[in-house]
Amino acid sequence: MVGRLGSAGVICDAKVRRAMLAVERHLFLPDSMREVAYIDRPLDIGHGQTISAPHMVAIMASMLDLSPGMRVLEVGGGSGYHAAVMAELVRPGGKVFSIERIEGLARTAKANLARSGHDDVVQVLIGDGSKGLPEEAPFDRISVAAAAPDVPEPLIEQLADGGMLLIPVGGALSQELMMIRKVGGKIIKKKVCGVMFVPLVGEHGHNV
Ligand code: SAH
Repeated sequence: MVGRLGSAGVICDAKVRRAMLAVERHLFLPDSMREVAYIDRPLDIGHGQTISAPHMVAIMASMLDLSPGMRVLEVGGGSGYHAAVMAELVRPGGKVFSIERIEGLARTAKANLARSGHDDVVQVLIGDGSKGLPEEAPFDRISVAAAAPDVPEPLIEQLADGGMLLIPVGGALSQELMMIRKVGGKIIKKKVCGVMFVPLVGEHGHNV
């Protein structure tokens, strides 16, 4: 699968290619879905949610330019797969805090990350990630895997200077992936491309 994504030009970055090869996606899915684990598609993980498509994980990880030692906040942990790929890139010395609002998914993500050997880098938390995680801020990078109506203010506040935040913004039918950078205290927002994510539900997200 990683080879096919490479040939299609989705993975140009050698360190992201290594990270994608190091994480076994089938470990983040129920055993019954092992057959389809290496198809480049989002897949159902229960509770009406999906594991992100591998090409989207690769694109977001490349854009965030992750490197060893970074502190990363992930909002929308889902299965834990995307967090594991980021963990490969911030090792050694880095940390990924992954917030998931659905308790059942957070518990499964924790077990998946232990099976795949990424629980030393990724800490899974249950809660509303639209408010960020003020007690662990600031973050060098913030990666949001669910679409918000607007960029949540707390996430901008919790970004370190020089940091980057990647977030899908929009409603059920049309969303744009946005890149937000904080440079010398100034906020620079840029549209990246059209995307399709499940909604970010919470105080600074969509209503339940
Ligand atoms: N990156 C994940 C997939 C995420 S799907 C993976 O690789 O498996 C998006 C996830 O965001 C869903 O699990 C959903 O429950 C979660 N979510 C939605 N709103 C949230 C919020 N306010 N805080 C935390 N998680 C949220």
